[in-house]
Amino acid sequence: MAKIKQLPPHEAQKIAAGEVVERPANIVKELIENAIDAGATRIAVYVEDGGKQLIRIVDNGCGMDITDAQLCFDRHATSKITHVSELETIDTFGFRGEALASIAAVAKVTLITKARGSTGTAGTRLVVIGGIVREKRATGAPEGTNVLVEELFFNTPARKKFQKSLNTELARVYGILEGLCLAYPRISFRLFYNNREQLATERTSQLLNTITRIFGNECAHELLPVSAELPLLRISGYISRPGLSRKDHGHILVSINGRYITSSSLTVAIREGYGSLLPRGRFPVAFLSLSLDTRLVDVNVHPTKKEVRLTKEKEITESLRDIVFETLRHNNLIPDGPLSQQEHTLTEVSEAPALAGVADPSARYEVKNLGFGEIAAPAASEAHHLLFTEPTHKGTLSTDHRLRQTEVTGISPVSAFVPPMEVIGQVGGIYILAAAPDGELIIIDQHAAHERIFYEKISRTHATKNAQELLIPVVIHRPPKDAAILRDLIPALTKEGIVIEEFGSDAFLVRAVPAIMGKCEGQEIIDDLVSDLMSTDLERPLSDRERITRIIACRSAIKAGTVCTYEQSQRIVNQLRAIHSPFTCPHGRPTMIRFTRAKLDEMFGRT
Ligand code: ADP
Ligand code: MG
Repeated sequence: MAKIKQLPPHEAQKIAAGEVVERPANIVKELIENAIDAGATRIAVYVEDGGKQLIRIVDNGCGMDITDAQLCFDRHATSKITHVSELETIDTFGFRGEALASIAAVAKVTLITKARGSTGTAGTRLVVIGGIVREKRATGAPEGTNVLVEELFFNTPARKKFQKSLNTELARVYGILEGLCLAYPRISFRLFYNNREQLATERTSQLLNTITRIFGNECAHELLPVSAELPLLRISGYISRPGLSRKDHGHILVSINGRYITSSSLTVAIREGYGSLLPRGRFPVAFLSLSLDTRLVDVNVHPTKKEVRLTKEKEITESLRDIVFETLRHNNLIPDGPLSQQEHTLTEVSEAPALAGVADPSARYEVKNLGFGEIAAPAASEAHHLLFTEPTHKGTLSTDHRLRQTEVTGISPVSAFVPPMEVIGQVGGIYILAAAPDGELIIIDQHAAHERIFYEKISRTHATKNAQELLIPVVIHRPPKDAAILRDLIPALTKEGIVIEEFGSDAFLVRAVPAIMGKCEGQEIIDDLVSDLMSTDLERPLSDRERITRIIACRSAIKAGTVCTYEQSQRIVNQLRAIHSPFTCPHGRPTMIRFTRAKLDEMFGRT
């Protein structure tokens, strides 16, 4: 082995530089942050070929005089703090004094800058290549700073090789700009990629203008303003109505004291505020700025400063969750039709088929093989039948029973957002059509609505507690893996009125189910429960009680395909004004969709 030698300073710098400038997007971020720290109100960003060839940031900030222009390339040279203790109250992005030194160590950097308010045309031009100053002279320049980075990683072949594709890099740069635009609506940003403008925002005091600019009108339309002042923090910004959601949390953008950060605990808190207003696996869109005492935020966790550590994290996340919850509770969340397809995903727990004995209208119509060109004209009586399907006597009794069981009394605080509705009829045994004041048409998913009513009834009253012995206990066999899960669940199930016991190896005996469920469906419930518990979730797992309650509600609610009488439909609809969360079923699917009179007029071309 060779002898230990001190690395020459320039080699050591190249290695240290890697921490800050691991990729072109990081450089863009550092340079824009410098411009923001310099008080710029206009920042232009130019990137060519994924940033490997060229990155240029032009700002109209405070600029630098000739002394500072040279100093700024020294490692740990910063104007932002003089003592580490100042980190507690820092309000700038920078403080490490590392970015420019690191970037210049691995690239060719040309800096043109002129201090604000300096007389004459005198600016400074400085060229630094691989950490060595190659050129320094006075030059004419506008106030502000212009940093040009070329030949990135020219002297670090290993790093150059590992660069991701151009598109990945552009996407990252775009993401960084997006976050900064939203955190700083008062700054105008422009991004040019290969000389084509990709993004431009105007200076504005209204965040919504910036959001509209970046994400479009449709997104902005679905947002609810958030604003709250608490002892620990101030929150402002926007969150989406449940109708606007995404598969990932990429559009949950949170800034803390102007610093756009990633924090899974804050993301989770926001998602939790939505509860069952969104299907599992869906995330809202949120643009929130948090202001809190700088002493509660430790920014010095990571060289790129994208992660922060929060003191009192628990209190902060809980407040955030509660504010999201409260904001949603104080708004009318009935989605306006027509909805676009991708806005809602189907639930993962599929609806149970209609009960045997209850009329399934679709079963009554055979699909006949018609000859070409032939038109199936229904007989007069049949046509009538299509519109007003008569419920069977047995079905009506069973539906009546269920509705009685789940009657929720009182008026809920959100009832102000659910208009009084008058049932017009039922379509396909699934959808209830209702008229609301001001000529609104509301379509209600009967199963989703009743499932939510059922769920609230159970959650509120512990109504499942009353177990009802089965005449004949049901035996269930499960493979060993499922059996183990089920065994652990026995106490929780018993508490909810599902009495189940082990019955030899991998077999179980269901002795009782909650009385509220009416007819026994022990077998299916257990099947559902086990498969639900087997499925792994990325989100915080639901409590056993919550899972059991949801499944009982889903299994027991009036099914799609159950023909309801006018009175029954009206009863379901009325109940939506009595429950606390009438807008979605417990799985996050909408219970009702509204067509305003204006929308109907628009669709019929009456406007
Ligand atoms: P830091 O931002 O952590 O202080 P940098 O290496 O990014 O470290 O910058 C070093 C110093 O150079 C800054 O503290 C600031 O004084 C100066 N500087 C950098 N960029 C600009 C700019 N765009 N406008 C004015 N001054 C700048
Ligand atoms: Mg900096």
